[in-house]
Amino acid sequence: MSLNRSIREEFPLLVSNDVAYLDNAATAQRPACVLDEIRRFYENANANPLRGLYALSVEATSEYESARVAVQQLLNAAHPEEIVFTRNTTEAINLVAYSYGLNKVKQGDNITISIMEHHSNMLPWQMVAGKTGATLTYLECEKDGALTEDAIRNNIPDNTKIVAITHVSNVLGRTTPVETVVARAKEVGAVVLLDAAQSVAHMRVDVQKLGVDFLAFSGHKMMGPMGIGALYGKRELLEEMPPFLTGGEMIEYVTRTGATYAELPHKFEAGTVNAAGAVGLHAAIDFVNRIGYENMEERELLLTRLALDGIKDIPHVHVLGSEDPHEHCGIINFTIDGVHPHDVSQILDSDNVAVRAGHHCAQPLLAYLGVRSTTRASIMFYNTEEEIQRFLKSVSTVRERMGYSE
Ligand code: PMP
Repeated sequence: MSLNRSIREEFPLLVSNDVAYLDNAATAQRPACVLDEIRRFYENANANPLRGLYALSVEATSEYESARVAVQQLLNAAHPEEIVFTRNTTEAINLVAYSYGLNKVKQGDNITISIMEHHSNMLPWQMVAGKTGATLTYLECEKDGALTEDAIRNNIPDNTKIVAITHVSNVLGRTTPVETVVARAKEVGAVVLLDAAQSVAHMRVDVQKLGVDFLAFSGHKMMGPMGIGALYGKRELLEEMPPFLTGGEMIEYVTRTGATYAELPHKFEAGTVNAAGAVGLHAAIDFVNRIGYENMEERELLLTRLALDGIKDIPHVHVLGSEDPHEHCGIINFTIDGVHPHDVSQILDSDNVAVRAGHHCAQPLLAYLGVRSTTRASIMFYNTEEEIQRFLKSVSTVRERMGYSE
């Protein structure tokens, strides 16, 4: 599929700014339909949802709940109440760690996470292990991010209660073989939490097909607003979990000495909800459905291949991860001999190319790979071939501009 010009024109920032925006793994750009929907909500339907009995509040509630159904359908969850709105992936994972982890995990149990985890899916489990006395096992990957069946089997021991794993690594772009992980977890009776922050924006994710128990993602990485994300949890698990946060909107009845909690999913949505965020996320989901995952994937693969083919011909540049563009999910992370990634990123910025430099909130993975920091370009279907060429050209001049004579 060639990039439909009209799709590109739906992104106001990309139209008004000549930047080659290649930091999509950090956050995507927003199409006008998302921005319009947020504005429309505040102009036409703004009231505190789930509270008032007047028409405007009922309308706000209905828009908020229809966003929940959109997320349910996106993930193919069985019931809308299996979707809990959160601020982002980080909050969704913390909800599970505090509410499920601290209550279900005991001394003598094990929690397994992979070495590829973002700190957001690592620190909550370090906390649960620390507080409960459980062990925390790291599922090691190969240097290119591959998780072998042996590693999966050996690092999910029989006493495992939780396996928390990324769907796509934000450093290597590698996709986890979720079915193999779930099969082993089920053998030992562990639940599986999937960190889908980097996958939902790029591939169809079906929670029933994958068989995961929990899944977390952020709206802002799939062109929705910042400050809205979601947790999927199997209904029977969410039902038995205590609330993570307490306060307004999550109760049935409160007395001086206690409270009974609201039904799912409201038990987990204390306080005034981010209804405008949910409405914006709903618009982003509609937008993704309009374009189609197949088209997005095809386009991202083409651009990834272009970038990988070009970058491997540039001397002194080393790409992390697999050589196969299918194993990158649009993420190209690299080092340049003798140049600090912060300098790489500044030089690219001077050519109007926006990339991320640093440890990408995955310091244990970088330590395992033997690097302290890297430069990451991350692609979305709305990027253009010209932008990839500009990126490659800029990368090819970095060493010279840092004073090296080849
Ligand atoms: N997990 C992964 C794999 C990520 O890439 C990110 C974002 N970089 C997160 C979790 C955290 O997402 P958020 O900051 O939106 O909570």
